[in-house]
Amino acid sequence: MTTPLRFHRRFLDSLPGDADARSVSRQVHGALWSRVMPTAVASPRMLAWSRSLAVELGIEARMESQDAATVLGGNATWDGMEPYAANYGGHQFGNWAGQLGDGRAITLGELEGPDGRVHELQLKGAGPTPYSRRADGRAVLRSSIREFLCSEAMHALGVPTTRALSLIATGDAVVRDMFYNGNAKAEPGAIVCRVAPSFLRFGNFELPSSRGDHALLQQLTDFAIAQFFPQLGAPSRSVYEALMHEVAVRTARLIAQWQAVGFVHGVMNTDNMSLLGLTIDYGPYGWVDNFDFGWTPNTTDAQHKRYAFGNQPGVGMWNVARLCDALLPLIGDDERSGESALSAYESAYADEARAQFSKKLGIRIGDDAGDGELVQRLFAWLQKHGVDMAIFFRSLAQVLRMDELRELPSCVRAAFYGEPAKDAVEDGLSWLRQWRMRARSEASDVELAVTSLDRANPTFVLRNWLAQEAIDAASAGDASKIHRLQRVLQRPYDEQSGEDDLAQKRPDWAKDKPGCSALSCSS
Ligand code: AMP
Ligand code: MG
Repeated sequence: MTTPLRFHRRFLDSLPGDADARSVSRQVHGALWSRVMPTAVASPRMLAWSRSLAVELGIEARMESQDAATVLGGNATWDGMEPYAANYGGHQFGNWAGQLGDGRAITLGELEGPDGRVHELQLKGAGPTPYSRRADGRAVLRSSIREFLCSEAMHALGVPTTRALSLIATGDAVVRDMFYNGNAKAEPGAIVCRVAPSFLRFGNFELPSSRGDHALLQQLTDFAIAQFFPQLGAPSRSVYEALMHEVAVRTARLIAQWQAVGFVHGVMNTDNMSLLGLTIDYGPYGWVDNFDFGWTPNTTDAQHKRYAFGNQPGVGMWNVARLCDALLPLIGDDERSGESALSAYESAYADEARAQFSKKLGIRIGDDAGDGELVQRLFAWLQKHGVDMAIFFRSLAQVLRMDELRELPSCVRAAFYGEPAKDAVEDGLSWLRQWRMRARSEASDVELAVTSLDRANPTFVLRNWLAQEAIDAASAGDASKIHRLQRVLQRPYDEQSGEDDLAQKRPDWAKDKPGCSALSCSS
């Protein structure tokens, strides 16, 4: 016997739902959600699940039962689940796209965990909803593996993110034209159950605002404040301003953390921006191998590079501006509040980036020009020579420990793709010497400094080629690489014996292979 689950109905009870019960694609007005059941799949099978998350949710025992794959594959519900899809809009690649909504995400319910916290459980790929437009509401195995692994890896790195409870193979085929070149083919389908305190996005606010439905906008905003930002107080004009400020700051901090770990989201549309400042909607994301601010993993963005690594901080701010625009009707259209939220974004970003890179370099980076120059010189060098980001930063602890630096240490050489050029060696050595002197002078104890550098610079990140290897194996019926990555990425900052091959730079075969260097949005 498993204990009964406690589901809440915050969203359903506090916010207006869609009166129309049909699940056909359509525009939904005056409502923030629509009831919709997952569509049953052929033979749901659990490929992987997160024990640590299941424990947080208090459902570890249930996850061990056969029942779990049935429910998390969308073929049944646990008592208290009342599935619905949320209605939202968004700016895609800079343009207002109108209503989007959960086209293939279905929330099963809001589950209270043993510690009293409430978590939204949502299936991604569970079949069509009123928001599916012309698409099928399904997800393929490759993108589901990527979302499952990366959500949990991000959490282990300490970066705010939605979580992933389970990865289910559906047994159904899903047809996708992966390269958008007229070669559609059947691929295995899958469903991820993702979990967050809330999946509210900037786009949930933009849609009613764009339609001039200010009453609905206010209802949603008041709900969000009461549920997720109660510390701001009872809704009022100044509290709406405080909300803009708070979301701006959380978003800025999140993106500074992405920059520090080398994560490129790939599709920072406003429908993919979490109100809570979580990483959300893992699609054609990528991890920086060779350092390159101009890199985007998303083939759809290859030309304009709107969402390239170096553009993320600016795009985050642009997105916050869209949220502020959406909330303006609640504060008498006073644009100064939006401007003040954007300056809060800028300073929060600068502070968080400074804090992150202070930890990564083991020095206290201050405002003075010399500090800025030290960091900028490093970025310029990494960029010019395409040095592997994770390996380089991880090598710093070893460099700090060395007695002297006569030549470029082998642990740093290991971060080069190919033989380093003469200027790469000279400039690298000169930077490392300056940095090392500084880091040593600030360290009260070298061994302690080494440990804290290692706590700030992960050995293991979900490089694209690693995810792709797990995908290739799983597509051939072997899920063991998923499990191995899942296990190793739970402790990204620890050296783990026998796992060195997962900490290597991108191998040559992966340089131009789809899924490793570039990904399409097709998922
Ligand atoms: P994304 O680019 O994944 O954030 O998706 C943008 C919008 O398209 C969201 O409203 C999604 O719910 C919707 N969408 C993406 N893929 C599908 C699909 N296969 N079926 C239905 N809706 C989808
Ligand atoms: Mg999305």
